Amino acid sequence: MRQYLDVKDAHSDALVFFRLGDFYEMFFEDAVIAARLLDLTLTSRDKGKEDAVPMCGVPHHAARGYIAKLTELGHKVVMCEQVEDPTSIDPARMRAGGAKGLVKREVVRIITPGIVLDDEVLDPKLPRYVVALVPAALAASAPSSPSDAPICGLAYLDVTTGELAATEVAMTALVDELVRVSPREIVCAADQLAGGARLGPIRAQLASSLAARRTPWNSTAIPGAADARRELAGLSATSDTDAHPLAALAAAAVVAYARATQPTGALPIARLRMYAPGDSVVLDEAAIANLELVETLIGKHAQGSLLDLIDETVTAPGARLLRRWLLYPLVQVAPIRRRQDAVAWLVERPTLCETIRRALSRVADLERLAGKATLGVATPRDLGRLRDALAGLPELIALVASGRDARSPVIDLLAELPELLDLKACAERALPVLAAQLGRSLVDAPPALLKDGQVIRAGFDATIDECRKLADGGKEEILAIEEREQAASGIGSLKVRYNRVFGYYIEVTKTHLTKVPAHYVRKQTVATGERYVTAELAELERRVVTAEETLAAREAELFRAEVAVVAKQAREVAGAGACLAVLDACASLAQTAARRGYCRPTVDDSHLLEIIDGRHPVVEAMVPSGSFVANDCRLDPDAEQLVLITGPNMAGKSTYMRQVAQIALLAQIGSFVPAKRATVGLCDRVFTRVGAADNLSRGDSTFMVEMRETASILAKATRRSLIILDEVGRGTSTFDGVSIAWAVAEYLHDAIGARTLFATHYHELIALAAARPRVRNVSAAVREHQGEIVFLRRIVPGGANKSYGIDVARLAGLPGSVVSRARVMMDSLETGSFQQAAPLPTQLSLLALSPQPMAHAVTARLAAIDPHHTTPLQALALLVELKQLV
Ligand code: ADP
Ligand code: MG
Repeated sequence: MRQYLDVKDAHSDALVFFRLGDFYEMFFEDAVIAARLLDLTLTSRDKGKEDAVPMCGVPHHAARGYIAKLTELGHKVVMCEQVEDPTSIDPARMRAGGAKGLVKREVVRIITPGIVLDDEVLDPKLPRYVVALVPAALAASAPSSPSDAPICGLAYLDVTTGELAATEVAMTALVDELVRVSPREIVCAADQLAGGARLGPIRAQLASSLAARRTPWNSTAIPGAADARRELAGLSATSDTDAHPLAALAAAAVVAYARATQPTGALPIARLRMYAPGDSVVLDEAAIANLELVETLIGKHAQGSLLDLIDETVTAPGARLLRRWLLYPLVQVAPIRRRQDAVAWLVERPTLCETIRRALSRVADLERLAGKATLGVATPRDLGRLRDALAGLPELIALVASGRDARSPVIDLLAELPELLDLKACAERALPVLAAQLGRSLVDAPPALLKDGQVIRAGFDATIDECRKLADGGKEEILAIEEREQAASGIGSLKVRYNRVFGYYIEVTKTHLTKVPAHYVRKQTVATGERYVTAELAELERRVVTAEETLAAREAELFRAEVAVVAKQAREVAGAGACLAVLDACASLAQTAARRGYCRPTVDDSHLLEIIDGRHPVVEAMVPSGSFVANDCRLDPDAEQLVLITGPNMAGKSTYMRQVAQIALLAQIGSFVPAKRATVGLCDRVFTRVGAADNLSRGDSTFMVEMRETASILAKATRRSLIILDEVGRGTSTFDGVSIAWAVAEYLHDAIGARTLFATHYHELIALAAARPRVRNVSAAVREHQGEIVFLRRIVPGGANKSYGIDVARLAGLPGSVVSRARVMMDSLETGSFQQAAPLPTQLSLLALSPQPMAHAVTARLAAIDPHHTTPLQALALLVELKQLV
């Protein structure tokens, strides 16, 4: 128990799996928690005694699944193993250690939600990040000029691939960046975990955002500057870490945290990618969610997202890279064009593209396999896959370089990669050598587990070959001995046999007993004859018994040596994997472009956004083929800067606005876009704000959230930004709503000048176009046909003059009586003092409007009363209602 308590002391924030024989046991509070979460029976040690210790356990061979369950629920698990064979403990120590003696135990691995190596838990298409945060106050060397907004160092690490990146973000943008990284675990200094600390509010805010709800926070030590420098010394950083001390501290902290989880293996980290939030399009949490980039707004499903639609990748690293591309669109023309060139090159060569994709689909996840080799957790099957993947490399290189021009744009794109240690040279020399080596040593289809045996190829190692022969009962040798003894003794019926009692023996039948040689030692008499042993048989037996042990040990030894060989070349292997990921991502974009009829957009430094016949990529794929109505869009800060979109519900306003933003983002990741033609002047940020009533996925104080996000847009947008506002102001009363929408639109026009699409059902806003030079009205067209409303899904110039709310309500199946009642109500409203069908005066005085609707709300309510059918009780309730209206 003391041994256990020592481990528990050092890992108080984790559940300790303590190996006892064939079980992992948990004690005390750990046992109570695990029993509940894993549905295990809680028992106790020293049952019956007063201070009985609660305990529960899982069989060691089934531990994997239990651990996975715990980590997916946000727990940390410490695995404490017996590192010594209990049978090898010498008697002296046994006496000293008490009745049983103490087997030495050590923590061999810590599994945390962010640091999981189990293939069955990991999603191949998703990175698994653990993030470290170091807010400014903690660092002595942090820039602390009072004008600077407080910043935070952020680093994220995927232990499975060694991907490590670090940045410094403004505290106000931290939640957005965390949502974008979407880590599975966040670590920071212990004192930051309290609510009052700097990160406290971040933690609270993150908890309310759906995507990150399951992300646990854990404490870790934040190193000092000198220690951090030492920790990062071996890594090649993409920019100066000294210039970004908080990022460096966070990077060092996350690496140290990960290292502590792997006491027995090295981490596969080679590079530290330093990035700045401005290196890519700034996307906040709302934009990522509303544009459904990686998951749908409702339900949070990956299926139905933009990523899901464009993802035609055939490898896991390719899928992970495409995801990163989409979440971090580029903000410079040149690299975007280079990606476009590569995609176009593949689009123009459909057969080649298909061949490349087929070849890629046979290549395993080199990044994670290299990582597993470094971490020392690669299985025989992993190395087999790695070998086969490496063997396929030269073919792929040749394919990419094929075509008339030896240097294709794809190669040019690959040449930009920092991971690229000259792929061609690598693929031609080092990696084939590695592949050949693994080809010689490993069987064609290595088993999933080392203990399954049959890992090393026959003929590779003499010991193994001999052991295998012996291990399957030494059949050949026995036959040889039998034949030799038959010949020597002249007893043709002599047999070599085996039984459990005395192992190998020679059996001679009664009729031949006289011919038995002198050196046979008689062991047993049976009814049919006699059984003998010989020195030779005894020796054979000894060898057979030990052969299996020797075989297992030797296979393990040779296999580990192979893992070490791969680990030594892990950088090259992972580099090749990174190159293939780029190739796969490009091929995926090419495939999508070809399959869905996308065009290559012109991306430039202008501020223009012009789309001809644009389509919504996801909606287009969902509606019957050919039924999606394409629409144009033109936004330009110098002319049509702010486009107001009116029209009834269900007319297609939201779809239209989202498609414009998605097309802009697709263009900036280097993708082709769903349009006939498009020009995208670079956007630095994309904002979206969806009005409370439209945003179903948020349960919390919706109007407050809506206004907070609108405030953030007004604070951060620039002339280069793209802003999508959908029904802003809807979360409050009509007059508040119109007022806010009006003022926001004015501000965007007058003060910011960002390209803006603004959908609203407040027809009052149509008047804004007359008041401001760069405001345009468009509307989602509908037609009335024999009293029915037909959605044309076409965006046409001019504002809508009617909202058709009742028509839509009827389409939705509201009972006929309710619909006709609503029409009566509306007529009475319109013929009352409500005279706003005409456009409002340009200098709208909203305050002047406010007393009036009260009046006709009361009038309308009164008009609706039928006194002959009103009970006294209802009349009383009506009185209360009217009073409330006033
Ligand atoms: P609004 O925002 O005006 O209420 P939506 O954009 O939500 O309308 O569109 C309602 C539905 O109409 C969508 O779910 C989609 O199925 C369909 N739709 C929208 N735009 C188009 C289009 N251009 N072509 C075909 N169907 C469309
Ligand atoms: Mg809408």
